[in-house]
Amino acid sequence: MYKNRSKKGMTDMSEFTLKTRLLAALEGKPVDKTPVCSVTQTGIVELMDEVGAPWPESHTSPELMAKLALANHELSGLEAVRVPYCLTVLVEAMGCEINMGTKNRQPSVTGHPYPKEIEGATIPADLLQRGRIPAVLEAIKIVREKVGPDVPIVGGMEGPITVASDLISVKSFMKWSIKKPELFEQALDLATEASIIYANAMVEAGADVIAIADPVASPDLMSPDSFKQYLQPRLQKFSANVNSVTILHICGNVNAVLDYMADCGFEGLSVEEKIGSVKKAKEIIGTRARLVGNISSPFTLLPGPVDKINAEAKQALADGIDVLAPGCGIAPMTPLENIKAMVAARDEYYA
Ligand SMILES: [Zn+2]
Repeated sequence: MYKNRSKKGMTDMSEFTLKTRLLAALEGKPVDKTPVCSVTQTGIVELMDEVGAPWPESHTSPELMAKLALANHELSGLEAVRVPYCLTVLVEAMGCEINMGTKNRQPSVTGHPYPKEIEGATIPADLLQRGRIPAVLEAIKIVREKVGPDVPIVGGMEGPITVASDLISVKSFMKWSIKKPELFEQALDLATEASIIYANAMVEAGADVIAIADPVASPDLMSPDSFKQYLQPRLQKFSANVNSVTILHICGNVNAVLDYMADCGFEGLSVEEKIGSVKKAKEIIGTRARLVGNISSPFTLLPGPVDKINAEAKQALADGIDVLAPGCGIAPMTPLENIKAMVAARDEYYA
């Protein structure tokens, strides 16, 4: 049942740590078993109550941010620790207005710094000191101190395409992509540059993997042609310049752009259940990237029951998923029991 077992020179499989296993799996190297973790948001209300680290406070306090992240590793068995819980940290530092949400609702962008014109916009020299960026970097350091060197830390963030859209508003993003391509490209370039700086700061702080979620890059919003022409070069630049293993998460049914995603230079592609077949997706991607996912967050992990979670997780493993994970951000009301069920399914699969 070992996947990718190499014929010779196989290292002692028992030597894997959670970190080396996840990194090997993402890099397409042989592993003893498929890792199970979440590369998308992990905050759930049950754990907020259990450890006393509720939203929205844990979006801002490094101690609470670390505490909640650790809880969904220590108490659920997920094999990585991931921070933070939103897609607003970088864009806030770049000038967006944020509504911090509630205990079960994520922060959201409510105001955009460049809705009409992006000419002359620059990255603030003190970017890494702004907003909640210092809190995220501190949280990563706290987590590292608590888990030691052998547990992987996933630094999550909004991807460059979503950053660009947040800077100028979705409306301008759509309009400029057709009518003002020069401004559109300026926004994308500024966003990409800022994203690289922030990602590398997280790596410097101790993140082993950078996982970007880029919902605005979804075929639901941008055409496959636009993806290829405008988005792919920026995503390639991002992955090439970030000093860690990287994962690209795009929401929705990404089949129309999956081939292009595989050429973006990310080790992992995180996808939802909406892609349909894991096997087909793996065929399209080939050896260019590894597939992460794709247990439905809203339709399986949130409602359960555990039998369904168990069956879908084992099916994903049988179909060759490289990292077993939720298909998108874990819904805050998801019971801990359901996350444990996904981990247990992986353990049973290899038992
Ligand atoms: Zn998603």
